[in-house]
Amino acid sequence: MTTPVIITVAITGSVPRKKDTPAIPVEPDEQVESTHQAFEAGASIAHIHVRDEHENPSSDPGRFRRVQEGIRRHCPGMIVQFSTGGRGRRHEERGAPLVHLPDMASLTTGSTNFATMVYENSWEVVDGLARQMLTFGIKPEIEVFDLAMIYNTVDLIERGLLTRPVHAQFVLGNRGALPASEPVLDLLVAELRRVLPDATWGALGIGRHQLTVNRWALARGGHARTGLEDNIYSSYKILAKSNAELVGLCVDLCPEYDRRPATPAEAASILGLRIPAIGAAAHA
Ligand code: ZN
Repeated sequence: MTTPVIITVAITGSVPRKKDTPAIPVEPDEQVESTHQAFEAGASIAHIHVRDEHENPSSDPGRFRRVQEGIRRHCPGMIVQFSTGGRGRRHEERGAPLVHLPDMASLTTGSTNFATMVYENSWEVVDGLARQMLTFGIKPEIEVFDLAMIYNTVDLIERGLLTRPVHAQFVLGNRGALPASEPVLDLLVAELRRVLPDATWGALGIGRHQLTVNRWALARGGHARTGLEDNIYSSYKILAKSNAELVGLCVDLCPEYDRRPATPAEAASILGLRIPAIGAAAHA
């Protein structure tokens, strides 16, 4: 029997600009349109960052709200996940969009180096964001950039700031963090299963590692992430035309691993989310 795979599309991120690829959606309207195409191609979670009018990363709650409203309208049942990444921004700012009650939000449970900066997540920041998500009933996706972030997740559970089962996302291939290596993924999966046996997980590869990591996740029963946030190419030196094209590449791999894209309702059920009635406001 084929096992459903939740495909997340990370449509925008903090890094790519229009000058890098015209396909990157930065205005809320184009973000909704790009998400809709990716949804039709098989994605069931939309991972959202917003930009300001100069394309700079932003935590503007109004922009997050506009994107969420558009996705709710055009992509029935699709799971909306806000990024709280906000590199360099204060935690209050990073958490501000959560008042709009996305289904999920990213939560990085520690600090790490990136290529050009330190991605700083002190306990104070992590606890604050986790507490907000708990209060609002938003399911965190634990972004794992380093092995310690798994144990930090257990620490949060023990202190009552996270509820089980958690969903973890292994981020592979960032300079300064975990490499895109199959033994590393095996270690991460084994450790997650050992300390949190009820957890679900996905994995993503940055840049040229995207499709390779999609394959590794599919082969291990994990979930997959793709999208222009992580990689802007569809093949060597060829820019992807859209987020939907990248989703399509991941979908095409599924049969080889006896997997198929999860419907939004299946994704919600796998993640233990409340399943919104199609066409109704998700948090009505
Ligand atoms: Zn992101």
